[in-house]
Amino acid sequence: MLSTLLRYIEEKHYCPHCSGDLTLCHAPPVHVGDGLGWGSEYLFICLNDTCPLFVKGWDYIANHYGHVGSYRYMELPNSKETYNMMVVTREAFTGSVVDIEAIKRQNERYQRQQEALAALDACVEQKQLAPVLTVLLDDSVRIDDRKRAVELLVPLNDTACVEPLRNHAFKDPHLEQEVNLAIGQILANHFLKECPYCAELIKARATVCKHCQRELAT
Ligand SMILES: [Zn+2]
Ligand SMILES: [Zn+2]
Repeated sequence: MLSTLLRYIEEKHYCPHCSGDLTLCHAPPVHVGDGLGWGSEYLFICLNDTCPLFVKGWDYIANHYGHVGSYRYMELPNSKETYNMMVVTREAFTGSVVDIEAIKRQNERYQRQQEALAALDACVEQKQLAPVLTVLLDDSVRIDDRKRAVELLVPLNDTACVEPLRNHAFKDPHLEQEVNLAIGQILANHFLKECPYCAELIKARATVCKHCQRELAT
């Protein structure tokens, strides 16, 4: 799905009326003309307000049909079909332009996830915390993969995981519980605890925090 969209983003389509670039838009749910679907989730549309088709269309439709409207040139992806699509307002379709930067960001995030997931198997051996954190801190990763990542925290035994994990608001209470258990185990392995006042890591034996100087209940 994302790959299809990324391909469309790279495609260049030109309007035969104004030679301008066509804009990739989300298709409206229903074909304006005949009530059928477009057969595509995306359309390439000329949104140029100075396009001759669009400029002359208002008079043409007023004269021939007696109502307000004009035409936008449109092509379907993967098709030779082209349409002069009737629109009743200047703003039609301008709200359904595909947000290309958002799609690219989504794709980069997806690629990072895939790289991190692929690195999970070897990360304990290679002492790499980063892929585990990438998977755990991304709420869009499948829960099974995140559970696989949480199980690697204790074997990695790296206290650098504490701060990023503590700063993340986990939506899944079960996953959060597993993360908390792992952090507790890692701190115990290092004879450390978290100061309840300033959250710095300090020696488990400390009775005064070396960071905030507060007395700790023993
Ligand atoms: Zn045009
Ligand atoms: Zn403290």
